[in-house]
Amino acid sequence: MRTISVLGSINIDLVLSVERIPAVGETVGDGEFARHFGGKGANQAVAAAALGASVRFFGCVGRDENGVASRENLRARGVDVRGLKSVESATGVALILVDAQGRNSIALAPGANAQFRVEGTHDIAVMQLETRFERPRAKTLILNPAPARKVSLRGVDFVIPNEIEAEQLTGCKDPRKAVVALERMGAGRAIVTLGARGVWSGGDPGESGLRPAFRARALDTTGAGDCFVGAFAAALAAGLPDPVLFAQAAAALKVGRRGAQSVPERAEVERMLRKYA
Ligand code: ADP
Repeated sequence: MRTISVLGSINIDLVLSVERIPAVGETVGDGEFARHFGGKGANQAVAAAALGASVRFFGCVGRDENGVASRENLRARGVDVRGLKSVESATGVALILVDAQGRNSIALAPGANAQFRVEGTHDIAVMQLETRFERPRAKTLILNPAPARKVSLRGVDFVIPNEIEAEQLTGCKDPRKAVVALERMGAGRAIVTLGARGVWSGGDPGESGLRPAFRARALDTTGAGDCFVGAFAAALAAGLPDPVLFAQAAAALKVGRRGAQSVPERAEVERMLRKYA
């Protein structure tokens, strides 16, 4: 089995659920507080590890309580954290307000994430754009270009944006056209995720085109894309024949649970594939 290196962001999400989001200068009471482990990089690493992959995480946390807790969380979820550095900066924090309708408002302080630099040699490398992007030395590079900004896609083997990011990167609303544009920009293969509709995939005939999602009762779609990316990497590492199918099954199981890191284990995904695929 190949190994996965996730190079990317790690944050603490501080979530306050309130009746309504306050205006500037206003205070709303009766909030409910929750702390979650997050950061796209950490979420993707946790997903790949839960699905049985051998995963190393490379990133930066601060020498603070949030950093200690984030490191311990990754370790407890089976991720090798020897590449996680502690630096002189606060651990990344996302302050999230969620109103009674489920709408949110987010302020992010990247903190230690801003000090991350790409180094080392990797087998399958997985990156996002919450940290500085450079192509790592890796046999295979998967890039989840989120949040979207223009970077060179030369040397990127798989680029996996959601449809909003795909449009921001290419100007194409139509995912079929966005896939073509992303592959013209240098990506080996583009896969655009379309939420409950599934994905539009480039690549070989037979695997390309619209691939419908699995049916799921969605409770919380936060981190669906992160679960998809982590699962896609895990499927590649295991040499599975159809990584898109595997990743869609994993992401459909994830949306049935609350929390970005409430990801399924491999046996659950296999059960789902036997039943529905
Ligand atoms: P992001 O979280 O980055 O916005 P998407 O919303 O496109 O990403 O979701 C990623 C993948 O998760 C989809 O391609 C699909 O396989 C799965 N998914 C997301 N929402 C649902 C849903 N409601 N039902 C089933 N699968 C879903």
